[in-house]
Amino acid sequence: MSSSILNAPAIRQLILKSSKLSILIHKNPDGDALGSGLALYNFLRTKGKKSFLLVPDAYPHYFRYLPGREKMIVADKNPQKASEILNQSNLIFALDFNRFDRLGCLQSVTENLKVPKILIDHHPDPDTAQWNFMYHYTSASSTSELLFEFIQNVFPTDPLTADVATCLYTGIIMDTGGFMHNFSSKTYKICASLLEFGARSSEVNENLFQKNSLDRIRLMGYSLYEKLFFNKEYGFAYISLTQEEMKRFNFKKGDSEGFVNMILSIEGVFVAILITEQDNQITRLSLRSRGHIPVNNLAEQHFNGGGHLNAAGGQIEGNAKKAEALISEILPLWLKSYLG
Ligand code: 5GP
Ligand code: MN
Repeated sequence: MSSSILNAPAIRQLILKSSKLSILIHKNPDGDALGSGLALYNFLRTKGKKSFLLVPDAYPHYFRYLPGREKMIVADKNPQKASEILNQSNLIFALDFNRFDRLGCLQSVTENLKVPKILIDHHPDPDTAQWNFMYHYTSASSTSELLFEFIQNVFPTDPLTADVATCLYTGIIMDTGGFMHNFSSKTYKICASLLEFGARSSEVNENLFQKNSLDRIRLMGYSLYEKLFFNKEYGFAYISLTQEEMKRFNFKKGDSEGFVNMILSIEGVFVAILITEQDNQITRLSLRSRGHIPVNNLAEQHFNGGGHLNAAGGQIEGNAKKAEALISEILPLWLKSYLG
């Protein structure tokens, strides 16, 4: 168990001798999970390795430019195939999560696997007993940044293809909000290398930032104008969307991406929350904060979730109204302990 890359030769041998490799990313996959997962999938293919990328559930439509996406196995659409592949694998990679409860329908089959598992991740508090090798730094902008270093260390003489570089670039752009947060000088250096390897940055930017559907833009306008609740006294704000409202705007997965950051950008807001009712009696919460306010603790303690200090998520059983009531009950006292 180690958070270092000193085991590079051992890891290289392990990868090279494994005949069937599986890569796992978390449910509700974001750009970093998909970008790092597909980067590793494409890289292992260049090494001639038989590998599979498994994702618990569907991914947002605007990632449909990522190379290799059509080969991904979406487990809740094909659970049997996903289980078979995992059970036959002799090496597992886990990217952009560090606990099995982030795997949705793949949790129980993965927990029971006896083969070596390599973790590459930047979320706090990994359960170290679960992983045979860890490349884990919470200081990294993204899992994609760590995967770049991992590949450079384990296979130092292999150049990256333009496809691999495009996937990694996507992960870094998404997890830094387009270089708005979490980045270091190292992040820029890695992006410079990715561009030299041929990362198609214009394609990434166009797909992620310049391709809004009319439905999404209208939902954004409605949410900001009609549904924004701002508690000025305690410095928190939320937007809460019911299933009915989402259906009215023909909601597609990913259509509310970025809304929570807009809420946080309002002057006087220290904690921003986006509440979205799912169709199965579950309501999801997406949380953001400024400065030292740990929304990952809030998500862990009250919303069955977790994440980073300033960006976390979770869920409750019940509808959006129930989530709103919980927030109004919990947030004032909780925030007071941090803001005084
Ligand atoms: P988002 O609000 O964009 O869905 O997620 C923000 C961050 O919180 C991401 O790093 C994501 O991995 C993490 N996160 C989101 N939902 C959950 C959850 O249910 N459990 C945990 N542990 N982390 C979550
Ligand atoms: Mn990430």
